[in-house]
Amino acid sequence: MGNDLYDVVIIGGGPAGLTAGIYAQRAGLKTTLLEKEIAGGQVNEAPLIDNYPGIKGISGMELANKMKEHALSFSLNIENKEVQNISIEESVKVLQTNEGVLRSKAVIIATGAKPRRLKIKGEEEFSGRGVSYCATCDGPFFKEKVIASIGGGDRALKEGVYLSKIVSKLYLIHRRDKFRGEKINEDKLRERENVELVLNTVPEEIAGEQKVKAIKIKNVKTNEKSELKVDGVFIFVGVISRNEFIEAEKDDQGFLLTDAELQTSVKGVYAAGDCRSKVLRQVATAVGEGAAALYNAEQYIEKNF
Ligand SMILES: Cc1cc2nc3c(=O)[nH]c(=O)nc-3n(C[C@H](O)[C@H](O)[C@H](O)COP(=O)(O)OP(=O)(O)OC[C@H]3O[C@@H](n4cnc5c(N)ncnc54)[C@H](O)[C@@H]3O)c2cc1C
Repeated sequence: MGNDLYDVVIIGGGPAGLTAGIYAQRAGLKTTLLEKEIAGGQVNEAPLIDNYPGIKGISGMELANKMKEHALSFSLNIENKEVQNISIEESVKVLQTNEGVLRSKAVIIATGAKPRRLKIKGEEEFSGRGVSYCATCDGPFFKEKVIASIGGGDRALKEGVYLSKIVSKLYLIHRRDKFRGEKINEDKLRERENVELVLNTVPEEIAGEQKVKAIKIKNVKTNEKSELKVDGVFIFVGVISRNEFIEAEKDDQGFLLTDAELQTSVKGVYAAGDCRSKVLRQVATAVGEGAAALYNAEQYIEKNF
């Protein structure tokens, strides 16, 4: 067990964590960042990022590398470790990892999220080539095209309304005959002429060659199978949180609740980016929160240690 006491330990090396790392290094704090997979986080999965100011039309992997290089240029220490538990001992945060224990005055959780997969044939193969999990990110690439959107929850309806303003035709595929999302968005979708609701229906396969060309579906009432010709498939069947390692207040999907300072219900533990309970999960929002969380953590350290 290392006896060193860090000022800040950052959990997760996506845009939020790397930004917090840059700010921490520039503030001269004793910091380490723990990343269990690869730095850059979900950005590595984005084929093209077109909405991050100052860098138009960049591949996700390139942006992820640029962010990592930027953080390393300030000598940020990045360790390949997974945090498994956090406990508190007289205001000191004790982090149990898969390779030992770290102690820190403050912690920034930046563990992100993951879109839930449908797990059907063609989904992985065409991911980034017509299959998307984010309307704000990829909707504009489908201007005047025909798409299918899968899901019947709040997010599916909201994203459906957004997409319906861009595409020429939207098939909204839902496995039940009733939606679980806000009625106002359901009403908007029902009113739009370019939206066709395909209810009691499940997707079975996404087909294509280089890109998506069709989606194969089955009506669960009649067992009838059919195929829709589409240019893209948007999947909104949930987002998975990655915050199991901390006992703090969370929403019903496991995302961390924070106050205006981005502090969780555990004093000195802040959260930034997609791991928070919030509406818009994007690089731009993650980056801003990473900076703010670090600033607030710094204030906390000054007052409490
Ligand atoms: C396919 C796809 C396309 C996208 N396109 C766009 C786009 O065009 N524009 C846009 O703005 N946004 C886009 N996004 C969303 C964007 O990538 C996220 O909003 C952003 O990456 C969130 O940053 P983050 O730092 O909060 O989390 P993440 O990027 O999710 O990073 C979190 C990191 O924490 C690590 N981690 C998790 N748990 C632990 C643990 N216990 N211990 C150690 N490390 C841990 C993970 O391995 C991960 O690397 C896209 C996302 C996807 C999946």
